[in-house]
Amino acid sequence: MKLSQKPKRNFKSILRNLPLNFISVKMKKHNYSAGPCILPQEVFEKSAAAILDFNNSGLSILEISHRSKDFVAVMDEARALVLELLGLEGKGYQALFLHGGASLEFLMVPYNLMKENGKAAYLDTGTWANSAIKEAKAFGETVVVGSSKADNYAFIPKGFEIPADANYFHCTSNNTIFGTQMKSFPETAIPVVCDMSSDIFSRVLDFSKFDLIYAGAQKNMGPAGATLVVVKEEILGKSGRHIPNMLSYAQHIEKESMYNTPPVFAIYASLLTLQWLKDKGGIAAIEKINNQKAALLYAEIDRNPFFKGTANKEDRSNMNATFLLEDESHAPIFDAMWKAAGISGIPGHRSVGGYRASMYNALPLESVQVLVDVMKAFENKVKLVEVTEA
Ligand SMILES: *Cc1c(COP(=O)(O)O)cnc(C)c1O
Repeated sequence: MKLSQKPKRNFKSILRNLPLNFISVKMKKHNYSAGPCILPQEVFEKSAAAILDFNNSGLSILEISHRSKDFVAVMDEARALVLELLGLEGKGYQALFLHGGASLEFLMVPYNLMKENGKAAYLDTGTWANSAIKEAKAFGETVVVGSSKADNYAFIPKGFEIPADANYFHCTSNNTIFGTQMKSFPETAIPVVCDMSSDIFSRVLDFSKFDLIYAGAQKNMGPAGATLVVVKEEILGKSGRHIPNMLSYAQHIEKESMYNTPPVFAIYASLLTLQWLKDKGGIAAIEKINNQKAALLYAEIDRNPFFKGTANKEDRSNMNATFLLEDESHAPIFDAMWKAAGISGIPGHRSVGGYRASMYNALPLESVQVLVDVMKAFENKVKLVEVTEA
């Protein structure tokens, strides 16, 4: 680690006394984990340093007050940077860092937005969408406008109608488990709510078309423990419900995302990831690399006769690529090969089986090349075995 690259902080004295294996990762894996997932190496290094000495304060980030000047600055910068990266500054939006994961948003959304005796419209595109629907049903009429459940969520439903009298429309931009991603979003006059847990900050969208975006941090933004909520303030305060403070977006906005002790470390590491993204050129720049990564892997899935993709091509996710072996009996060979190549985290979710390669922002293109090379080598090996056995 070159300390000279970090002019703003000086951890030299602490790091000099650490065992070398603390600061240099000798065998970094090609990490395809679906979440919590790979983050930029510099985020790991800077957050590790902040655990020892935060901002030259002589204190760890883990032991300071969330009301301290240094942490308030972290929170303010993180909230502002979210809006900046999404192109939502000055457009009536607030960014919040909350607890409870995306799963708590499944119920906070209807609590805050569904009127008493109101209704909401949901698109059912996978396990997470389904969990959101289940929570909404406890609050009022929940209309499922489209579902691909009968096809094990292999595609994104299209051409559905959204009832104009619903209080909001909810969708999931990227289906982490089934490997599908919405490429376009419906035009509607009612508020649009989107669970972007697994593709936030990965591609350019007109984010101002959304009234509420939420995401668990651990897929593309930071460590587990923080949940990002970006909400257009004008949609709040209309449900007529009494909302407990901890579950009220308006309360969290009023308290500047510090209603209670926020997940300090998760927010700090998220800020470091957002800074890394900004330094790289923001969402537009990372999207180009994400497109290259996805194109490289899908081309191999389609070319290689020993693999097949599970999602409809037009709806394939650039974040989570799901694929199967044509012949399951080859799994031990392929598994041994990717493990030997230093790949981690590609076994598929139990509801799809096979493999899932999650290519979040921090996964380098080189890691995808390693996987593709393994798939090619696997093809050659199996062909050779078949020839020898024939
Ligand atoms: C992982 C995930 C969730 C659940 O997130 P938690 O933070 O664990 O509650 C919800 N939605 C999507 C799209 C996800 O990928």
